[in-house]
Order: sequence, then structure tokens, then C-alpha cells
Amino acid sequence: MLEQYERIKAQHRDAILLFRLGDFYEMFGEDAREGARLLGLTLTKRQEMAMCGVPHHASRSYIHRLLRHGRKVAVCEQTSAPNGKSITTREVVEVLSPGSVFDLDYLDPKISNFIAAISCDTNHVSLAWCDVSTGELNVTAHEIPSHEGDNRSSAVESIVRRELARLSPSELLVQESLLERTDSLQRLAAPEHAAVVNRIPDWGFNREQSVRRLTELFGVVSLQGFGIERSDPALTPVAALLEYLEDNARHVLAHISHLHRHTDDRFLVLDDATIRNLELVHNMQDGGDAYTLVEVMDECCSAMGSRLLRRWMLSPSRRRDVITDRHDRVAELYHDQPTLQRLRGDLSSVYDLERLVGRLGVEKAHPKDVRAIAGTLRAADNIGATVSHWYGATPETGLLDSADDRQTLLSIEERIVTTLDDDPAVALAEGGIIRAGFDEELDRLRALRDESRHILSEYLEEQRRATGVTSLKIKYNRVLGHFFEVPSGQARRLPDDFIRRQSLANAERFTTTRLGELEDQINSAGETADLREQQLFMDLRAAVAGKTALLTQMARRISEVDVMAALAYAATLRGWRRPTMTDTPVLNIHGGRHPVVESHLPPGDFVDNDLSLGGSGPRFALVTGPNMAGKSTVLRQTALIVLMAHVGSFVPAETAELGVTDRIFCRVGASDNIARGESTFLVEMNETSNILRNATDRSLIIMDEVGRGTSTHDGLAIAWAVTEYLLEEVQGRTLFATHYHELAHLKHPQFTALGMAVDHSSETIVFLKKLRPGTEDRSYGVDVARMAGLPEAVISRARELLARLEQGGVTLPYGTDPSATASPGVGRSAGEDAVPAAGAPDSPQSADFSAPPGELFHPEDLLRTELAGIDPDSLAPREALDLIYRWKRGLSQ
Ligand code: ADP
Repeated sequence: MLEQYERIKAQHRDAILLFRLGDFYEMFGEDAREGARLLGLTLTKRQEMAMCGVPHHASRSYIHRLLRHGRKVAVCEQTSAPNGKSITTREVVEVLSPGSVFDLDYLDPKISNFIAAISCDTNHVSLAWCDVSTGELNVTAHEIPSHEGDNRSSAVESIVRRELARLSPSELLVQESLLERTDSLQRLAAPEHAAVVNRIPDWGFNREQSVRRLTELFGVVSLQGFGIERSDPALTPVAALLEYLEDNARHVLAHISHLHRHTDDRFLVLDDATIRNLELVHNMQDGGDAYTLVEVMDECCSAMGSRLLRRWMLSPSRRRDVITDRHDRVAELYHDQPTLQRLRGDLSSVYDLERLVGRLGVEKAHPKDVRAIAGTLRAADNIGATVSHWYGATPETGLLDSADDRQTLLSIEERIVTTLDDDPAVALAEGGIIRAGFDEELDRLRALRDESRHILSEYLEEQRRATGVTSLKIKYNRVLGHFFEVPSGQARRLPDDFIRRQSLANAERFTTTRLGELEDQINSAGETADLREQQLFMDLRAAVAGKTALLTQMARRISEVDVMAALAYAATLRGWRRPTMTDTPVLNIHGGRHPVVESHLPPGDFVDNDLSLGGSGPRFALVTGPNMAGKSTVLRQTALIVLMAHVGSFVPAETAELGVTDRIFCRVGASDNIARGESTFLVEMNETSNILRNATDRSLIIMDEVGRGTSTHDGLAIAWAVTEYLLEEVQGRTLFATHYHELAHLKHPQFTALGMAVDHSSETIVFLKKLRPGTEDRSYGVDVARMAGLPEAVISRARELLARLEQGGVTLPYGTDPSATASPGVGRSAGEDAVPAAGAPDSPQSADFSAPPGELFHPEDLLRTELAGIDPDSLAPREALDLIYRWKRGLSQ
């Protein structure tokens, strides 16, 4: 048997093999050790081989736990009955993986479960992704930008990261050479991206193969009906994906019903850092959905609605007509609360039609599922009666395109309701599915079965009378079937035609010829009735499955209506208003609020803010203010308001006029990504580079504290240069928060400086959370430290030191120290000559920017910074001497 095990295991190296032995699934060797650890099972040993097992009747929940840990599971069954002579044959009947699993009790109802395949050729990164529970297959391709001197790998990587952040696939198929290309792409295999990563050889990614497979799958001659050319690079990964599903979850293929080409230009694009920083669906603390945007937006009644809303949030629309259509619908419901309430009532009785139809497609739908489809269709018809005009039709067509389609689904509903019991059994084998009166033959068989039961009880009475044994009973078990039972003492009173079957400690069991006959009758009527029920159910299920396309369309429209109703409800609940969308890249927000922060504060406590960017005013705003003054909040809320509007939602603002936006970039706060092995500063620079390369004049750019992760001079220099580039080259609407107050003195027609107001008229400072024109250039760090509860002794000492530092400081204006350029080796390594001597003749922007005034610096700080940047071994003796002179000069000033 172990040989058999080894042979099977060899074919499923990447999965945990559950090997059926009697009533258990056993794991052996490494699988057993891993299984025991993940499932908390006791590990045993047999013939030096580690093993552990789970009872087969409870196996599903164990399998789900393994899948949640990101493992694949191969289920190996006994395929012949044990006969005591030859070894039982066994084979793997199912391979389950996180991306191909169907069980509704495994899937998170509110989250799409994608399996994705990625490939890359000379010019494109291509993706195919599929939610097998709903049967949708999507493809896309992104051109790799070819900037001069660009690092191609990093361009590929940023596309891949962005797509993975958007889709959060639970399983990934990656072209082998892509994983081998760079270290950072190898990290794709890290658990943050997908539970399971499968390496697929490059030849698996083949466009011609993809076309062939797709035309076969959909039974079409070309893909033009899907609007896809056969030369489309987006098709490349499809072959690998379909091949994988065929090998591992063949039944899934039958169910893939639509192919969709995703193109970026129809959507507002968000990269992975922005999705993370804006905390759209996961918070930064624990990855949960508390304190996220989805928490305040998702008022959906159905799981389908919640999934669609998440999708819209991660891919908001960029088409003004689509966006305003959504706003129109939300407005209609918002202004008609009774209808909204009725609609939400109907939506609450909707089941997960999308996934139920998915189960139909693979013949996994059980009677309760089919009954749920009928219930949903009934509710959908009520929903259709309310909002059919959204689909350009009349009440006769409901949510569908034609009255015929609506009638087809209504008759399906009627057929289900007349066929199935109101509360049918889940299992197919045990009857209790079909409604009485639906099928004559079934009714006849049931009557026969019930009648036999009746005859059985009459026969028992008759025998009690004949034998005088009143304690005589008829019982049933699966081994003996029906039998007589009497207490042991009474057995001798029974006549000879009672044949002994079994003796227990205090009872005896018998049968009679007549009982045997009755048993046969009951069994055969019962079995035939059960079979008949199964057949009738399967006919019904096939008929419903025949309408998959219509049902899927219905499911999609119900989801849309649900999202619209949810957004109208959230707007009502939270006081959101309709934004105005324009084609010019402006942003005029009056009374804007942060939807999430606000929802966690007592009503009325949140301070709203106004902001204008673009149009006739400046498009770049520099925001200064101390820590805790509310900078991050105002920055994020601006991004969230723009994003919400593009999803189709109302926004937390009194009024908002927003230009249609192609991308939102949000770099907020430095966060080390130790898992990725990158330092804070490197992450920050990566994200900044991504913004500078990809942002356009239609983008919204939110940058918080760029350049904080390095020395003061380096940081200021970078922040300054980035500001110039954004103003001159990118020209997008930008909010730029910084501690470098020097930047507030930049002069440019598109530049404005805003500060977070602070009231320091009383002893304790108050952060007013109000954005005002001008600069807020004091840090109030000591005050914040005090608010945080630092001991009073530390606070007063800090105040004393601060006063001394401020008085005793020397003035060292940037870039004006002649010795800084006199010692290039030092200057460069300290990052000093990267600081543009703005206003100096060699500054490229000298015409537009004036030099910032000098800033107070404590000389020891400067000394420390410079020393940290020096590599003593690379200094010439003369340079070292120069340095010492310069420091001495500085310190004695
Ligand atoms: P900063 O980025 O300037 O350090 P934050 O934006 O992180 O400040 O805000 C600090 C705290 O103040 C946050 O915890 C937030 O809850 C609160 N806050 C920020 N803005 C507002 C506002 N407009 N109204 C009320 N509370 C606010």
C-alpha cells in the first residue's frame, strides 16, 4: 500500500495528499508533519513513517483549513471495494486549490475569489484572471513603458504589483522566466500576493494556444464576438490558466461563460501603494476592513453587491457618462426614500445568484440552491418593477433586455416552485425534494411506500394479538433492515415461524417470511421513489442551467441595483452629496470631510475643509503644519472624495466639482516593507518614481513627507526637485505635505502654500484642523509630546533646550556656503550639492523660483549629518583638512 501511496504522491508533489483508508483520510511523511501542524492533529508513527488522519465525514472543514493556509489538497479515494485479497485500488479524484475551489462555505461571500495568470514578453505584461465561482474570465495587457535609460524590470514589477493589489488573487500562475528575472519579482511568490503561486514553464503561455482553447471552450470560430483580436497580447496567459484548470479542476471549465477584455483607459487607475495607503479595502494595521473606505460605503444587501462594489472601488470608472449615470441613479433613490426602502427590502431576499449559477454549471447545485434561485428570481422581478427604466425598458422587461427574457425567467421560477418542496432536503439521495402532487408516478410510489408502512404496523398488531407478547416491537437498522425485537425472557413465547436473527444481552431479534416480503415492498417503493425524485430534480436543474446566460445577466443587474441602493443609503446615513463631474481637470471641494475618520468621531466633531486645485487657480498646493494638525487626513480625504465620485457614489462634502481623473497616486507616510526587504526610504523613492513617470495632467497626486527617510539636506533637495518636476512637467493636481517649510517660498503661478491652522493663544495649543492660505512653520513637537503624556520633567527640559537651540543656532543658508562646493567628495556624499542653489545662475528653474531664506541650524547637527555621510577612506588628506577648517569656522560662529 505504501508503494501505491508513493506512486500517487509522486504525481502530486505540490499538494497535501489525503489518502483514503477506510473511514479516514491519512497523511504521511512530510504531508503528515505539515498537516498535523496546520490542523492541530496528533502525529503518530508507523514503520518509521509519520502519519496523521482526519475522519472522512468531517474532511471538508479540514480541507478548507488547509486551503486557507494556502495549501493545495489532493483527495485520493478508494476506487474498488476492499476484498481482503488484492490491494484496494485508489486514485486522486479531486485536487483543490484556493483559486479553483467552489464550496460556498469556503468562499468569503463578499470577496471575489480570483485565480490569475501572468506573463511578460518584450513589450507587454499580460494577465488573465477568473473567478471560478461565477464563471467570469477576464484578460488584459499593459504596455511596458520604454523611458530612456529606464530599468525595464522595475517597470514590469510596478505593473505586476498594481494588478495584484487590484485583484488580490488567491492563486497565481506565473511564467517561470518572470520569476527568475529579478529578485523583486521573485518576491511575487511571497504570501502577501497570493496564497499559492504556481510556476508555469514559459511555453505554457502561448497566444495561438489560447485562441484555440477559447474558441473550443465557447464553441465559436473567432473571438471577435468578444471584441478581441487574435493578435491581442492579453490572450497570452489564457492557455496556461485553462490548462491548469483542466488538470486540476476540470469541472470548472464547463462553467466559464464569458470573456471580458479589460482596458485601463476606461478606468481610474490605482497602483498598489495607493490602494494600500488610502486603506480602501484593508487597513494598514491588521489588514482587516475596520477603518477602511469599504466599511463606510458597503451598505449592500447582497453578497453580490458587496463584491461588485469592491470591484468598482478598485477600478473606478473614468468615463464621465458612466459616472454621471451612476450618480443619476443614486440621486433618484436618495430623493425617493420610500422606494429606496422598498428596494432594499427586496434586495435583502436575494441570494448569491452569481455563485448559485456557478454551482448549476458544475452540477453541484443541490435542491436548496435551486429553490434559492427561485426565491431570488421572485425578488428580482419586484426589483425590476421598480428600476426597469434604468435598463432603458418597461416594467414588462424588468431588469432584462426583453419581455421574452423576463417571461423565460418567470416560468423558470414557476417551474422550480411547483416542482420543489418549500423547504427541500439538501441531499439528493434521501427524498424530500419534490412537492407532492407534482408527479403522478412519484405520488403513486410514495403512497405504496407509506401504505406498506401502514401494513407493517397492522402486521405488528396482528402478531402481538396472535402471540400475546405485548412487548413485541418492530425496529429498523441498516444492517438487519426491519426486525422484531422482544426482551430475552419473552423470546420463548414466540412461535416457530419467528426466525432468530440476533441475540443481544437482554433482547432477541427475529424475522418472519411476511416481514421479509413487506420489507422488500417498502424498500423497493422507497428506493424507486427516491430515484424518481432524483431524476425529476436533475431534469429541473438541467432546465435551469439551460438559462445560465440570462441568469448571469440577471445576477449582474441585481448586483448593480444593490450597489446603487447601497450608495444612496450610505449617502442618506452619512450626509454625502452629489458631486459635479467635469471634463476639465479641476478640483473644487467645499466643506470636504474624511468619510472614515468622520464616522468614528461623535457627530459634528469633524472639521470640514475647502480646497481648490486646477482651473484658473493653482494646481499645486503645499501643505505645512505640525504633527497631529490634520495634514494626512485632509490629503487622504481629497483622494477619497475623488475616488468615491468615480465609483459613482455621493461624497462627504457640501459641494464638489471634480474633473474626470485618470489616476490617483497617494504616497502617504513612510512605511517599511520589511517583508519585501526594502527600506523605508527605498520604498518611498520607488513610489515617488512611479508617480513622476506615470502621472499626467489629468491625475490627482497626493504626497506626504517625501524625502523624510534621509538626511535633512538630501531630503529637502529631493522634495524640492520633485516639486519642480510636478509643477513643470507633470502638471497634475497635487497636494504635497511637507516639514520642509523652505519649500513654501517657491514662486510659480501654479503654486500655492496652505497651512493647518493652530491656535496658540492659550497655554495649550489647539489644532484647529483647518486648512488656511499661508505656511504653518512651527512644529509644536514639544506640545505634541506633552499631549502624548511624556513626563512633565522631560517636557520642561525639552522646552529649555529648544529655547537654547533657537537662540544659540547659527544661520547657514543652503547652498551659499562656498566650502560646500570646494570639497566635492564630501559635499556629494553628504548629498549637499544635490540641493539646488535656487536663484543661482546655474539653476534650471532660476527664472521661476526664488531662493528660500536661510534657516536656523544647530552646528552640531550639521556636523553630525556631514560626518555620517563621509567615507574617510575616500578623502584626500587635503580634503580632510579643508573639512576640519570649515567645521571649525561653523562652530565658532
Ligand atoms: P498629521 O498628518 O498632520 O500629523 P493627522 O491627519 O494624522 O495629522 O490627524 C491627527 C488626528 O487628528 C487624527 O487622529 C484625526 O483623527 C484627527 N483629525 C484630523 N483631521 C481632523 C478634522 N478635520 N476634524 C477632526 N479631527 C481630525
